[in-house]
Amino acid sequence: MLAFLSTMLALLNAFYASYHLQKQTLITNTLETNRVYANKLSNTVSVFIQNTHQQLTFSAGLLVNHLANPAFLAQEASRLRKQISSFDSVLVVDHTGKILATSPQFTRFLYTTLQSSGAQEALQKRRPLVSQPYRADTGRLVIMISVPMINKAGQYLGYVGGTIYLEEQNTLNRILGEHFYRDGSYLYVVDHQGNIIYHQHRKRVGDNVAHNPLVAKLMQGQQGAELVINTLGQSMLAGFAIVPETGWGIVSQRPMSEALAPLDDLMLSLMIHTLPLLLLSLLSLWWLSRAIARPLSKLAHIAKELDRHEHRHDFQRIGSWYFEARQLKQSLEEGFTAVHRTLRHLKRDAITDPLTGLVNRRGLDVILEDYLQHETDFCVLAVDIDHFKRVNDEFGHQVGDEVLSLLAQVMRSVVREQDIVCRNGGEEFVILLPECPIHTAYEVAERLREKMARMPNPCQRPVTLSLGVAHYPRDGSTITQVFEQADVALYQAKRNGRNQTVIASHLTEKQPA
Ligand code: GH3
Ligand code: MG
Ligand code: MG
Repeated sequence: MLAFLSTMLALLNAFYASYHLQKQTLITNTLETNRVYANKLSNTVSVFIQNTHQQLTFSAGLLVNHLANPAFLAQEASRLRKQISSFDSVLVVDHTGKILATSPQFTRFLYTTLQSSGAQEALQKRRPLVSQPYRADTGRLVIMISVPMINKAGQYLGYVGGTIYLEEQNTLNRILGEHFYRDGSYLYVVDHQGNIIYHQHRKRVGDNVAHNPLVAKLMQGQQGAELVINTLGQSMLAGFAIVPETGWGIVSQRPMSEALAPLDDLMLSLMIHTLPLLLLSLLSLWWLSRAIARPLSKLAHIAKELDRHEHRHDFQRIGSWYFEARQLKQSLEEGFTAVHRTLRHLKRDAITDPLTGLVNRRGLDVILEDYLQHETDFCVLAVDIDHFKRVNDEFGHQVGDEVLSLLAQVMRSVVREQDIVCRNGGEEFVILLPECPIHTAYEVAERLREKMARMPNPCQRPVTLSLGVAHYPRDGSTITQVFEQADVALYQAKRNGRNQTVIASHLTEKQPA
């Protein structure tokens, strides 16, 4: 899960970074495109104005010599309008502002003095000019491109100019055309006071948008590209440039939403291309995680049941193919061995009498349980040292213990390998003789008694024993009964004067008598 999460997180991170990078690239590219486009249009407009000024200047040179000839003036005005198809009207005005000729011919204006601001501006400035937009005497919103008429003597004689009707289909529309995208991108042109002189929505022509931050920048002479919010609240990626001749600002802009439209497709394509490799990575991740986890979980399973001896062979089967698993396996194997060694020792100690090394009471129970299970018949020899108290009293407990150890040795020496010699507690002992007839058991008892009596010991006098013999199942239906019978026989041996063996069945045979 951890590896899976890490992979997914890394992937998400990559997608996120990629998304941002793509977005930034699209924005940067769009801004740059608009900046270049605005510049290009600015150049085009510049060239147009320069050409127009040149043509007007040439015409002015002709006109200065024929100002008194109305027919020539009318003809030249007409020629100019036809030659410079950009002009909606052409007029020749004298130095007082009086119209000398127009094309087309507005007869009612002929020889009247023009009052419009554009006309006044041309008279005042007396140089090649592109006027601010103004309401002409005809009531139309126009701009006028004009050059002064100056004779050879340097005398100012008026001007010749052409107007462009801003609110109608005009040359600016043709030059600026429709913006190259058909997706909500558009451009507009403002004069140096922030009045719109070209806009795709013609009714906006003449509006003053000086408050627009971008237009404000243009009016300060700045050019470039940036993200702006338009009057409709849309985010627009705008490029803006200035026409040096007129101080006009050209703004070319594209809605951000349009510029970013390819982003979704780009991301989808990125995901589709990443998918096969991702699936492959996840698959190998899953496989590898399993391969790493498998030995660990097997080791954990064994560790849970470390006390079960069968697991010894399971260790070999665990493929610990990497360092940490190998280490863990080795440690666990060592632990396993240690636990089982300790268990073995504990088990042995639990059933062994520490003084004599014989099986103790608990061990005896285990063995009897086994006999029961396997329905083994056996004889019980109950053994007790005669007057052992005296040995302790006379020679001390230490010597008593030595005698007990000696007895244990002797007992072991007289029995078969499969026989069990047990210290039942104190100086009472029991011998189990599996699958042994009673008379043989009796012989073993007698052999033991005699051998012990003969045996040199630390008390300087013979240690004698009293013994009782019983047979299971002949002397009782339960083991407890048989042990009781052996004890009864032993007790009888004591009563009979000690240092002898009594067989339990002989007692019961005698009792009726
Ligand atoms: P009897 O012939 O009737 O059996 O006489 P006895 O003195 O042997 O009497 P009994 O069997 O009742 O005595 C048991 C004595 O064994 C008591 C105790 O001092 C001694 N004894 C029991 N356990 C130990 C032991 O572990 N070490 C030593 N040194 N003495 C023990
Ligand atoms: Mg006793
Ligand atoms: Mg005794």
